[in-house]
Amino acid sequence: MSIVYIKNKLYTYDLYNHISYEPRLYLNDAIVKLDDDINNIELLNIIAYSYFYLNDFYNSLDYALRAYKAAENKSSSDELYYTCNLLGHIYRYLGIYESSAQYYMTSLQLSLSYHAQEKRCTTLRHLATTYIDINMFSSALDYAIESLQLAQLINSYKLIADIDVTLCRIYIQNKAYEKAFKLSETVIGLYQSLNDQKGLIRIYLLTGDLQGLTNNFTLSNIYYEKSLSLSKQIRHNYGLINANYALGCLFIKKSRYSKAKYLLEKSLMLANRYNIQRPKIAIYYALSDLHEQENHYKQAFNLYKTATELNNNINSFKYRESIYKLQDDYKKNREETQLRLYSEQNQTLEMLNKQLKKEVQLDPLTNLLNRRGLRFTLEKYSFDGTHGLILCDIDDFKNVNDTYGHQCGDYILIQLSKVLKNICPPSFKISRWGGEEFLIILPNSSLDESVKQAENIRNHVESISNSYRQHNIHITLTFGVTSLLDNFEHSVDIVDQCLYIGKNSGRNKVISHTNLSPIHELDSKSTSQYAT
Ligand code: GH3
Ligand code: MG
Ligand code: MG
Repeated sequence: MSIVYIKNKLYTYDLYNHISYEPRLYLNDAIVKLDDDINNIELLNIIAYSYFYLNDFYNSLDYALRAYKAAENKSSSDELYYTCNLLGHIYRYLGIYESSAQYYMTSLQLSLSYHAQEKRCTTLRHLATTYIDINMFSSALDYAIESLQLAQLINSYKLIADIDVTLCRIYIQNKAYEKAFKLSETVIGLYQSLNDQKGLIRIYLLTGDLQGLTNNFTLSNIYYEKSLSLSKQIRHNYGLINANYALGCLFIKKSRYSKAKYLLEKSLMLANRYNIQRPKIAIYYALSDLHEQENHYKQAFNLYKTATELNNNINSFKYRESIYKLQDDYKKNREETQLRLYSEQNQTLEMLNKQLKKEVQLDPLTNLLNRRGLRFTLEKYSFDGTHGLILCDIDDFKNVNDTYGHQCGDYILIQLSKVLKNICPPSFKISRWGGEEFLIILPNSSLDESVKQAENIRNHVESISNSYRQHNIHITLTFGVTSLLDNFEHSVDIVDQCLYIGKNSGRNKVISHTNLSPIHELDSKSTSQYAT
């Protein structure tokens, strides 16, 4: 993943987060720009998001659908993700849950294939919310937990707090009040430290509900009021609708019906004005309850009927079936994607393994084989005299280090390695055997040919000079040459002895094992004789 890609991603994520703060500003700007580029997905998205945050869901829907079409044609998956997510929100608010779930599912699948954990986490939470809205709590719990796991994985407090709110709602539904209480306390702390007003509005509401459910109406009232005043402060419709509704219900309990009626009607008016469907069911039920208390039975019945119709619609079997199918599709897709991810990871591991194998066999300074690397090649060769072996060592190399510094020494080693690679046929196995010693295997080369090769290298190295900074540095090499015989250790031993003789007799020369004194030859032969 390139830096540019990551930057772009952050930019996109940030952008859509920011639109909620000043939608009008983004809207005007984008509408002007769209004139020149009517299918620009990003602009269409910005407009759709702006309308959404201005609570104009129908315009939002219009542009989001245009963006969806444009994104489909150009298969711009990142933008398409945001479009689908938005469509999920809009349909949820409009109470068209099947479409909401469907678009969230699409964005979920997009975020699966793009390895985007933050997006996946957010979408899973939205999906859980949709399922809560339609009273499918066990599915909601599944998605909420998956979302929480991801949020913890990426260690985002904001995402953790958001998903905790959703979990809190589910706990309350399951009457697990103790759990819900504990969680809500943590969440309040989190949102306060993040200074997240919208989050606080939601958790104050839930805490108010919790207090009410445990008959603590005074505290319940305090939390609802907190939520209401914050909602007014930042003009948050969801908060206004729900806090007014909650307070209205509380006033029914206190038998203060006119105050209750005022609050509930305000809540209903806002829900109608902004086309937010879900709260209406509860508001209708509450209003029906209120009229019943005041003995307005006909009105109470009508309101009850409306609420029940809306509720039945949400719970309808046919409706659920298609949502279950969506869920199955998602599960299947998730499994497939995970399989694919695993196999991709496997391939990467295999590649890394290969790379590692290669790396442990190479000398990092010169990139020649190291001892281990050379040993790996040995099994290709028979030790019957058909292949040659050369060991060479730089003469008075210590001097180079002492005179020009260690870095210069390194440089010389690198240069020499290049010379060796250039001058030797590709079939030769050249290794850095030790500090300034190089061991070379010459496949299918007789002793004579190997000596010739060594002589050739010696000549060449002697004739060139290496320029390092302002210096011209000459080096020479001394060589020991033999054929691969008996076994590798023995052959190396012989070239080492040859090298020793070369060093002692003036350096810069090639010594083959035929030059070894009879003692050496006897010594080596006797070893092999004893061995057999
Ligand atoms: P001779 O002709 O007898 O081989 O003399 P020499 O100085 O080359 O041999 P000696 O064994 O006395 O010193 C080898 C030197 O090689 C000493 C050591 O610092 C240097 N050397 C070994 N490995 C490296 C390396 O990786 N980089 C550098 N710069 N020097 C190295
Ligand atoms: Mg040396
Ligand atoms: Mg040496």
